[in-house]
Amino acid sequence: MALSGIEIFKQLPRTNCKECGFPTCLAFAMSLAQGKSELAKCPHVSADAKARLSEASEPPIRTVVIGPTARPGKAGGETVLFRHEKTFANPTLLAIKVVDSMTDAEIDARLARMDELQYDRVGLALRADLVAVQQTDGDAARFAALAAKASAAGWGLVLMSSCATSLAAALAACAGQRPLIHAAEAANFDALAALAKEHQCPLVLRGQSLDQLIELSTKAAGLGLKDLVLDSAATTLGAALRDQVAIRRAALSGKVKPLGYPTLTLASDLTDDPTQEVVAAAAMVAKYAGIVVLSELDGASLFPLLLERLNIFTDPQRPMATTEGIYEIGGPGEDSPVLITSNFSLSYFIVSGEIETSRVPAYLLVKDTEGLSVLTAWAAGKFVPDEIAAFVKKSGIAAKVKHRKLIIPGYAAQISGELEDELPDWQIIIGPREAAYIPAFLKAWKA
Ligand code: SF4
Repeated sequence: MALSGIEIFKQLPRTNCKECGFPTCLAFAMSLAQGKSELAKCPHVSADAKARLSEASEPPIRTVVIGPTARPGKAGGETVLFRHEKTFANPTLLAIKVVDSMTDAEIDARLARMDELQYDRVGLALRADLVAVQQTDGDAARFAALAAKASAAGWGLVLMSSCATSLAAALAACAGQRPLIHAAEAANFDALAALAKEHQCPLVLRGQSLDQLIELSTKAAGLGLKDLVLDSAATTLGAALRDQVAIRRAALSGKVKPLGYPTLTLASDLTDDPTQEVVAAAAMVAKYAGIVVLSELDGASLFPLLLERLNIFTDPQRPMATTEGIYEIGGPGEDSPVLITSNFSLSYFIVSGEIETSRVPAYLLVKDTEGLSVLTAWAAGKFVPDEIAAFVKKSGIAAKVKHRKLIIPGYAAQISGELEDELPDWQIIIGPREAAYIPAFLKAWKA
């Protein structure tokens, strides 16, 4: 349960020595309470206080790590109900099913397709996160072989079976890869809990009601199992949403610790219609699934889900930004055009994409505007002539081209005169207002 700043303050030495970088212990405590600082910054906090604060500062929903060390997936760790309160911590993990009833060729094709379906968006690589290997026919050797195959392909796994023998074989086949075991129910709880403990793997608890989930979770905690995931076994979207909200609220209220774990939803359990499955998955990404398992793999549905997830799990108070600098597109030379834009990620990717489309090699100068778009940055005094001129001079672009022509965004036309005053060696050219017109504009370019 999160502590208030005052509660944290009471545990600090209260000497105001400033070694943490804050003027007072109280200021440091307030920053800690907001999750903006690390306790380790105070070298004088006692071991006792450290232990008390560390335990007390754990998020009300535990963070559970799934998958190999090289590519771990994290679920949970959430502290708020709404993203405007604080950024959500760990994006919903999307798992794609492979089922033992599929042919080897179908499974190979699905794994290969998962590798292909990766998307670059605002500088991030978007992709599915896990493979959910599902057993349907009781053949433990085949289940283990499938787990080994998906694991060898580098994917973190969800191992879906109710059979402890089959799960033991699969766990042995991907030893050390920390798969998520799905799922311990009332009937197989003891056997699966023992496996989770032996292999130190996270375990899904599946209950037919929240009361049953609480019962299983309490029992698992009593056995020393900490990395748990909850599956409410909902069979309709309405029930799944109700369960997700109830679990999140109960965990955050601090009164129902057994529900303080990330959740998993099988989207295919909520509908038989593949289109509706995507709709259900989208609802689960928004509220509040830690992991969603999809039965289908299709770029037309995966991409929107990945984008939805990106939007929901980014900080709504901080624009996404690209690093300031010179970006060379298409192998530009000394006669190539030089364009400038702000470092709002979307601006950068739209402008760079249109330059690529034009097939005219160019330099794109990206000015740090703290992630603001061109017009907003201009209004905020961050994309203004003196700032742009200082950046152009220090960027080193003058050594890369022999001309002195700088293309500014059409929306910044009003600064062209003043910018020419600031950069007397440069001719300022007003580019298109809309990025879509950049290709035609560049094709007409002459140095
Ligand atoms: S380093 Fe510790 S004791 Fe010193 S001001 Fe910061 S919180 Fe207080």
